[in-house]
Amino acid sequence: MKTKIEFPETLTEAIKYFADADTALQFMVSIRWPDGNVTCPVCKKSNAAFLSTRRIWKCRECGKQFSVKVGTIFEDSPLGLDKWLPAFWMIVNAKNGISSCELGRALGVTQKTAWFMLHRIRLAIQSGSICRFAGNVEVDETYIGGKARNMHVGKWKAIGRGMVNKTPVMGLLERGSKGKSSRVMLKVVKTVRRGELQDHVRQNVEKGSEVHTDALRSYNGLAQDYVHNVIDHAVSYVRGHVHTNGLENFWSLLKRAIRGTYVSVEPFHLFRYLDEQAFRFNERKNSDAGRFIAGIFGVIGKRLQYAKLIGQAGSVVATT
Ligand SMILES: [Zn+2]
Repeated sequence: MKTKIEFPETLTEAIKYFADADTALQFMVSIRWPDGNVTCPVCKKSNAAFLSTRRIWKCRECGKQFSVKVGTIFEDSPLGLDKWLPAFWMIVNAKNGISSCELGRALGVTQKTAWFMLHRIRLAIQSGSICRFAGNVEVDETYIGGKARNMHVGKWKAIGRGMVNKTPVMGLLERGSKGKSSRVMLKVVKTVRRGELQDHVRQNVEKGSEVHTDALRSYNGLAQDYVHNVIDHAVSYVRGHVHTNGLENFWSLLKRAIRGTYVSVEPFHLFRYLDEQAFRFNERKNSDAGRFIAGIFGVIGKRLQYAKLIGQAGSVVATT
């Protein structure tokens, strides 16, 4: 009998912990099949024999062999869980994000491999399944990229030109209450026109909530479904509880992270970077191990193939 090892708390411990192939396998099995019933991905029956020398299962019903990586973002990757799980740990816990160069060095893989791992892991931690926001919700937009990367949309409007290479990003921030910390949801938008911004608010914020925006005209009309509080930044930044300071602070954190870590963020890939930053922000009160566990559940059922990633990038670059 092996002695039970404590779940890691630091990166060094995580690397050591997951370097043991059996421990890494056991961990993934407990995430994938929490009730202990290893299920065949083909026939969905739970009657499989474990082939311990190869660490795979053979289904007794349909004869198909499968590993714990099937149907996860790790499928089709020749890299073992001893690389994937520490990579996951590093990405969810790096405050300002991590570059593919750094990740490659830390794991002993090429920068190209690390780049692909980063993108797959970002897919896993996308905030798509997050519940609707409610209560007090701040809504704001900003531009990322190009010369105006650090410019608020209000300032940009004052200048009014040179929009090339800047990507508008919309943010929602649900303020914290009763021990719950605030959380954000980000979206790359095509324009900051009314239709697109308001659709996003209506899809993601519960009716009747208090919504705080600046005086951008695109937000006119939200009062039909929400208590719409407007703070005109030409006049002041705070009026009682009416402000968008939570998001303003988040924008500055985000821009610092992007500038400090990444050489450039292509518009097509931007949404994944944003989801990664939003995830870390929303889980900021969690421990490193807690963030790791929160993120790892996104691994299941999400796959991203290299060709698809590159193909999409190519086609999108061509149209922007
Ligand atoms: Zn089967």
